[in-house]
Parts: sequence; C-alpha cells; structure tokens
Amino acid sequence: MARPLSNADLAELLARKAETSSGILVRAFRRAARSAFLWPELARDVLDAGRPLTELHSIGPFIAKQLQAWIEKPPREETRPPAIRRDFFTRADARVVLAANPEWQRRLRGDLQMHTVWSDGSANVAAMAEAASERGYEYIAITDHSKGLKIAGGIEEKALAKQAREIAAVNKASRGSGVTVLRSIEMNLNPRGAGDMDPKSLARLDIVLGAFHSALRTKDDQTSRYLAALRNPDIQILGHPRGRIYNFRMGLKAEWPRVFAQAARLDKAVEIDSYPDRQDLNVALLKIARKEGVRISLGTDSHHADQLEFIELGLAAALKARIPADRIINFMDLASLQAWVAKLRARRR
Ligand SMILES: [Zn+2]
Repeated sequence: MARPLSNADLAELLARKAETSSGILVRAFRRAARSAFLWPELARDVLDAGRPLTELHSIGPFIAKQLQAWIEKPPREETRPPAIRRDFFTRADARVVLAANPEWQRRLRGDLQMHTVWSDGSANVAAMAEAASERGYEYIAITDHSKGLKIAGGIEEKALAKQAREIAAVNKASRGSGVTVLRSIEMNLNPRGAGDMDPKSLARLDIVLGAFHSALRTKDDQTSRYLAALRNPDIQILGHPRGRIYNFRMGLKAEWPRVFAQAARLDKAVEIDSYPDRQDLNVALLKIARKEGVRISLGTDSHHADQLEFIELGLAAALKARIPADRIINFMDLASLQAWVAKLRARRR
C-alpha cells in the first residue's frame, strides 16, 4: 500500500493487533486503538518532528515502538474497518475538516450534553461552566442521568430540584461572564419510548434530552421505538440515537428516513453525541437526516471538564454530512433556543 498511515489506519491496525494478541496485550492494544481517536495531531507528524510517540495520549514505550514500525514501513494490508469500527472520526481528521471551515466553529454557542458529579461525571456544575466559559460558549446544558439508570448514578426528582438550586447559584455568580447553565437531564427511555421521571419535574427544566440505554443489542427493526420516543411530549432531543459504541456494539437498526421524517414533522432534534467512542449519529445517518430536514443537537456527553473539546468530532461530522447551519440547534442564541423549547411544549396535546 505504501501510503502514509493516518491515525484512523493506526487505530485499525491496533484494534486488529488486539484481536490476535493474548493476555494483557489485548487490553493494551484495544485501549491504544481507542486513544488514537483522541490524538489531536497525526502520529506520523509527531515522528517526523523528532518527538517521541509516547507524547500521545495513553501511549507507552511498547505501543510506541509498534506504531513507529508501522509508520516507517506501512503494512500491505487494507485498513478498512469492520462495521463495528467504521465511520468514526479521529480528532486529527476532524481538525483538518474544521480548519477548512473556520466559520463553522465560530457559530457554535454551546454544548447540550454533559454529566457532573450529580451522576457519573467527575466535575461539579461550576467546573463545567468554567470550562465552557473558557471555550467562549453562551450556554451549556447539564444532563445528568435520570433515576432509571442506576448503574450511572441516575438521579431522582428531589435531587434534580436540588441540582436546580446549585445551577441557579452558579448562574448568579457568573452573571455577566457569559455562560448560562441550562437545567436539563438525560432521561432514560424504555424500549417503548417512555421516560422514567415525573413530567412535572421535567417541565421545570430548560430542555430535556431522552435516550435509550436498554435492549441495545437487538437485531430487530426498532423504528416503532424511535417513533414512540419522538412522540414523547416531555423530550425535545433524542440523545445518541443508535446507541453504538466503538468496537463494542453496533447499535440499533431502524428505517432511518421514517424516524428522521417524524422528528422533522414534530420539530424535535436528534443528537450527534460527540464522545469519541460514540459519534452517534454518524456521518452516514446524518446524510439521511439532512435530506429529511431534521434539527440536529450537538453534545459531547462529557464526563470531565476537559472533554468539552470532543465537540470537534460532532462539528466535523455535521460539516461532512453537509447539515445546513440553520438546522443545528447549538448555533441558535439562547433566546431562540428557549423559544424553540417553549414552542414544542405549548404544542403538546
Ligand atoms: Zn446515555
């Protein structure tokens, strides 16, 4: 092949190496494959600059040696990934896409999915707001898990009300500095599209994201599940729609044109969860979404303050799929975003 290897090529070679390794090397290569999506620059550029590959995220001397061997003498094998690893952006590639369209990043006003210590995140609300302010955002939505998702520390109505007071305090303290923290939740939806929280408690939030976390390995068509979830009057955004995870789970199947047409008809948004392992929706589905004219929400699904940078992956996917800017709800100013939610709520029933 002899073409220079991209980080995506290296990720695929690492993932394959994991499959033919044994013992602790399986995990080491698998982890290195995932981390290749996080490297902000090309591994071969690091090498060309005479820097050690161990500078790259989670790369130790052993993996660095293997990477260097591949880069110096690219293997002849084809590196097209199998479906479970296909259509994921590396950050290095996302940055190239974004650098060619700098106005796209300037339009971004905020991030609409992130977790805090209230559920399974590692930072508090103030720290997330601070990180968002450093990025020049106008708003962020705090979307901790709802009570049905015990494994991720999902919270009940009472805790959600308590969190609202913390958010109000953060907003008060930061008044004038820019970022407005929106009260939200990642509400767990059952396979019938129903949520697990009291609608009255949801109505007090600024915006509601709904997402599936169960029965994600079924091979049957799930169109009806999506249509029901979109009809759920309590949610405005459908989070990580497929439920896919890099090298772990393919995610659900559906008649996507019908799903997106329904979302467009109801004026709801579907998400690009920009977490590197998710990237859900992916570019192929986003192209269908574009044809149906559905609104798109961008969220990083951050669990640490420094993960807000994952937004690059979602922005690049939207660009690559040629989603029109006026379909991206994070490009709206705060007042327009709030007006959209209010319109959807007024329409219910
Ligand atoms: Zn989720």
